[in-house]
Amino acid sequence: MKQTLIEPSLSAIPTGDSIAVISWDTGDGSNGEIYVSQDGGPESLVGLGPAGRIEAPWISRGSVYRFALYGADRAFGPLATAEVPEEEPPASQRRPGALRYRCNICSRITFTAPEDIAREHPSCRACGSTVRFRSVIATLSRELFGRVLPLDEFPERPEIVGAGLSDWYGYAIRLERKFDYTNTYYHQEPRLDICDINPADEERFDFLIASDVFEHVNPPVEVAFENLRRVLKPGGFAVFTVPYSQDESTREHFPDLHRFDISEVGGEYVLKNISRSGVFQRFDNLVFHGGPGATLEMRVFSEKGLERAFRNAGLSMRICSEALPEFGITWGTYPAFPIIARRLQQST
Ligand SMILES: [Zn+2]
Repeated sequence: MKQTLIEPSLSAIPTGDSIAVISWDTGDGSNGEIYVSQDGGPESLVGLGPAGRIEAPWISRGSVYRFALYGADRAFGPLATAEVPEEEPPASQRRPGALRYRCNICSRITFTAPEDIAREHPSCRACGSTVRFRSVIATLSRELFGRVLPLDEFPERPEIVGAGLSDWYGYAIRLERKFDYTNTYYHQEPRLDICDINPADEERFDFLIASDVFEHVNPPVEVAFENLRRVLKPGGFAVFTVPYSQDESTREHFPDLHRFDISEVGGEYVLKNISRSGVFQRFDNLVFHGGPGATLEMRVFSEKGLERAFRNAGLSMRICSEALPEFGITWGTYPAFPIIARRLQQST
């Protein structure tokens, strides 16, 4: 499986009359340069690096500041731009029926047409968050603080130890400022491979975020559920999302996966496997999330299958189906709500 790269992003969020916070990420670890132009004037450099966050305590009311993130080749034009004060939303997004909400990740007021409020659609105009990302943070907030706060208003609680499994950068950088939180990867440092955990990570976390990860981990998936319990402190919890069906059981696409590789043959991806018992298998019509060749779908969970998997691993499961339109969290016909999976206090 390859790492899915994220889109370059830049946000400029006023935090007072004469101050704004500028955050950016080139998305692929390459260097970026942040320039600002005041009222259409010449651009000056204000930030450097692949990703970062700076404060701009020099903005003044009545001026328009345009921030631009450039990559290695400036001639290519900006990778992303942002304005303070915020540009007027385009007419298409202000038409009657558009949902007006405060993004609970970047705190900006934004508008989205109802048909664009979908689980995987980057609907916040400022930070690109999706319903899934906003619901993960809302669910985390309710579980930790008993109410849904925008991420910028979370109290700082450095004694709370958390981690994400390849979390979205847009909320990971903000969680780092609130908690002893680490975004982890299965294939690079800081490493946390939920299929093969390090003994040092046992009972380490108060919370873990596993958002759309478990449908991609190698079988048998029971190992990942078991490890999820093991890395949590007793009483700790996971904010867990996967797409799931209402079928009787989870559908494993490749139950006998053992030694396998994925190759591209004539524009089509093919998975070749030699099972534990030595049987050769070949699969096509592979489903990838994040584009062809990105992350392979190993299974389609069902709600009942999830209940069994959590129970067998010593975790309780609670579905969080709350709609929060004030934060741009509404659910369509195929919701796949966030789940709170809590480690039982006395589990074996
Ligand atoms: Zn946002």
